[in-house]
Amino acid sequence: MAKHKAETRKDRLRIGTPLWVRTPHSTVDAATQLVRDRYDVIVVGAGISGALMAEALTRDGRSVLVLDRRAPVRGSTPASTAMIQHEIDVPLTRLRRKVGADRADRAWLRSAASVEALETLVTKLQIDCQMRPRPVLYLAGDVTGARGLAVEAKARQDIGIAAAYLNRADLVDGFGMERDGAILSQASASANPAQLAAGLLRVAMSRGARVVSPIEITDMAELSSGIALATAKGEVLVADHAVFCTGYEYLAQMKSAFHRVTSTWALASEPMTGLPRWLRDVMVWEASDPYLYFRTDEAGRVIAGGEDENTSDSSSDPGKLSSKAKVIARKLEALTGVNIGKPAYRWSAPFSVTRDGLPIIDRVPGFDRVFTVMGFGGNGITFSMIGAEIVSALIAGRSDPDADLFHFR
Ligand SMILES: Cc1cc2nc3c(=O)[nH]c(=O)nc-3n(C[C@H](O)[C@H](O)[C@H](O)COP(=O)(O)OP(=O)(O)OC[C@H]3O[C@@H](n4cnc5c(N)ncnc54)[C@H](O)[C@@H]3O)c2cc1C
Repeated sequence: MAKHKAETRKDRLRIGTPLWVRTPHSTVDAATQLVRDRYDVIVVGAGISGALMAEALTRDGRSVLVLDRRAPVRGSTPASTAMIQHEIDVPLTRLRRKVGADRADRAWLRSAASVEALETLVTKLQIDCQMRPRPVLYLAGDVTGARGLAVEAKARQDIGIAAAYLNRADLVDGFGMERDGAILSQASASANPAQLAAGLLRVAMSRGARVVSPIEITDMAELSSGIALATAKGEVLVADHAVFCTGYEYLAQMKSAFHRVTSTWALASEPMTGLPRWLRDVMVWEASDPYLYFRTDEAGRVIAGGEDENTSDSSSDPGKLSSKAKVIARKLEALTGVNIGKPAYRWSAPFSVTRDGLPIIDRVPGFDRVFTVMGFGGNGITFSMIGAEIVSALIAGRSDPDADLFHFR
C-alpha cells in the first residue's frame, strides 16, 4: 500500500466580513471527535460542494463522514455573492470555438438543468435560505460588444436556452442603464449561500451523516478494498470512496496550468429603500474585464462585486479592501444611478478560474476511489451541484452523460 500526500493549498479564504457569516443558521454544530473509522464515503470539505455531495450521497443511502479543517461553511462559501447562474463565464459561442459545438452545448444545457435541479431540491427539502428564481442581465462591455451578444443570444435560443437580446433603447426603457446591448436570461436564482450549505449539511446529518471539525486530511493510500485517509493528528479513516470538495484549496495532484487562483472583491450595502423596482428582481453582470456584477437580497441590500486581479495574493492585502469597494460602488452608481453610501460589509477572497470556464469534476490522477470537485468560475455553486450529481452517480455505479465534459485538464 503506497502512501501519498493529500496536501491541499492553504489560503486565507476571506479577508473582511461577508454578510452571510452574520446571518443565523449559516453553519452547523460539528462533532469534534471521530467515533468510527469506516464509512461508505468520506467528503473532505464542508462548504457548498461538500454539502451538496453529502446530501446526494445520503439520499442514495450511503454512510457519509464530512470533514473540514475549518468550522463547517467557513471557507469560500460564505464569501460568495450567490448569483446562482446557468450562464458560464465563457459564452456559448466562444466555448464552441474552444471545445467544439457538441461539448459546449452540452455544458451550457447541463448548467441550466442543474440550476433548476438545485431550486427543486431546495424546495423539496424546505431549506430556508432565501432561494428564489431570478432573471439575469448580461451587459455588453469591453470583452463582448452588442453585436457579439446578439449572436450569443441567438446561439443560446437555438439550443433551447431562454435568452432575449435587448438593444440600447430596451435597456434604457426597462432598466435605465446606458449600454449598447444585453442578454436577458431566465433560469437563474439567488440565495444565502451559507444558509444553503448549512441547510444541506443538516439534511445529510438527519440521514446519519457525521460532520467533524477541525480535522485536516494530510495523506491518503488506495487499498484493494477502499481508501485510507490520514489526519494531521495521525488518525486513519477508511472508506469505499473519498471526495475532495476543498474548493480553491485544491489537492497538489490537481495542480495544472489550466486553472489559476485569482483575487476578487465584494460588498453589501445597508438595507435600502427606493431602489429601482427592476433591481429587486434582476441580477446583473457584464462582459467586461474587470467586470462588475450586482444583485439585491431580501432585506433590500445591494450586493456587488468584481474588480478581479490575476494573482491570489492581492486578495489578502487589507489596503485594497477599501479602495476596491470604492471603485465597485462608483461603477455601480455610474451605471444605475444608485448610491449605496458606506458599505455595511466589504470582503475580498481568492477565486479560481479555468481557461474554458468549466469546472473540474474527476477522479484524482492515480486513484480509482478518490474524486474531486473543483467548481471554479463565477457560477461555482452551479458547478458544485453538477459535481454532486456526477460523483454520486459514479459512486453508485451509474453513468452520467456529461461526465466527460469536466475531466481534469
Ligand atoms: C467573492 C466571491 C463571489 C462569488 N460569487 C459567486 C456567485 O455569485 N455565484 C456562484 O455560483 N459562485 C460564486 N463564487 C464561487 C463560489 O462561492 C465557490 O465556487 C464556492 O463557494 C466553493 O465552495 P466549495 O465548497 O467548493 O469550497 P469552500 O467553501 O472553500 O469549502 C472547502 C472546504 O475545504 C476545507 N479543506 C481544504 N483542505 C482541507 C483538508 N486538507 N482537510 C480538511 N478540510 C480541508 C476548507 O477548510 C474549506 O472549508 C464566488 C466566490 C467568491 C470568492
